Amino acid sequence: MKLVFLGPPGAGKGTLAAKATTLFNAPHISTGNIFREAIAAKSPLGVKVKAVIDAGKLVDDAVTIELVRERLAKDDVKTSYILDGFPRTIAQAEALTTFSRVDTVINFDVPDSVVIERLSGRLVCRKCGFNWHKSFNPPQKDNFCDECGGDVYIREDDKPEAVKKRLEVYREQTAPLIEYYRSKGLLVDIDARPQVDIILENLKKALRRP
Ligand code: AMP
Repeated sequence: MKLVFLGPPGAGKGTLAAKATTLFNAPHISTGNIFREAIAAKSPLGVKVKAVIDAGKLVDDAVTIELVRERLAKDDVKTSYILDGFPRTIAQAEALTTFSRVDTVINFDVPDSVVIERLSGRLVCRKCGFNWHKSFNPPQKDNFCDECGGDVYIREDDKPEAVKKRLEVYREQTAPLIEYYRSKGLLVDIDARPQVDIILENLKKALRRP
């Protein structure tokens, strides 16, 4: 099953995809994670995209499309994958049709007030990428990840100015994908306000998976 996870920043796409990858036996491909790893490694890609990402803007289409095109050419994603955070523009969605055929697009729906609440307390593990939250799901030991012991930090683009920018960018460039995929009959809407386990149950039902 080839899935796209769509939704505003803070909808929980990354957390849900990390769980759904095992449930559906589908590799999780997060363009955001790929960029963050490149930034941490100070690779040429990382150096190129850091300022844009920190400001909450989108990396340009050509760079992003090429990255995903190369990733989807690998053997492990021949029959299934979860694309988390791609496509984010109509141009990316159009490009995707030239090298892969998506089965279903999940639109994780959540109001702006919830997005802001979630992002303003988000803590990310530098080592394994797990998402914690200062109030809703804090790690037991301050500043350290319960999953792997790595240190947790606040993403530069989760700071208030960048969050504002990301929401604007989402509304202008990514939200049009909802109607784009609905008109193709590929879209499934899922309420992303409940707890993760409930959302996953609803997702399984929507996809008719056991
Ligand atoms: P995410 O972890 O999905 O929230 O992505 C973090 C940041 O990476 C975004 O705010 C963008 O700057 C960049 N990014 C991730 N995916 C894309 C994409 N498909 N197109 C352009 N920029 C992206």
